[in-house]
Amino acid sequence: MTQRVVRSLSSRERKASRPARCPVCGKGVLLPVDDITSEIEGYTFVERGLRCSACGEEFLPEEESQRMIRVARRLGIWGEPLKLRRKLSRSGRGTILRIPADIEHSLGLTGDEEVLVSRAGRKIVIELSR
Ligand SMILES: [Zn+2]
Repeated sequence: MTQRVVRSLSSRERKASRPARCPVCGKGVLLPVDDITSEIEGYTFVERGLRCSACGEEFLPEEESQRMIRVARRLGIWGEPLKLRRKLSRSGRGTILRIPADIEHSLGLTGDEEVLVSRAGRKIVIELSR
């Protein structure tokens, strides 16, 4: 019974993501990907979209680019070139990231904020929740 449910779900998923033909080259098909990168003022964002299997042309749904702009504004990096290199460190309970002082100061962080952490491809997005 459980197996049947799983099987029918996965076949529906295959049907939903049936690739469309690329409108640019007409040869490849558009495959869903989650690693399309966009540059905003020197800052790289990763979104979900479609990529052609032949020419590599990328297609970004409108809601996905709007979401990227909202995230950029909320993070305060909209229009600010900002990319800082930091090393993760290890503690007994997991991995630790130290927030760069520039970001800490520009956001006025006090260190007791609640944040939302999410993954976008090879990026880790940290959003202030208030
Ligand atoms: Zn193509």
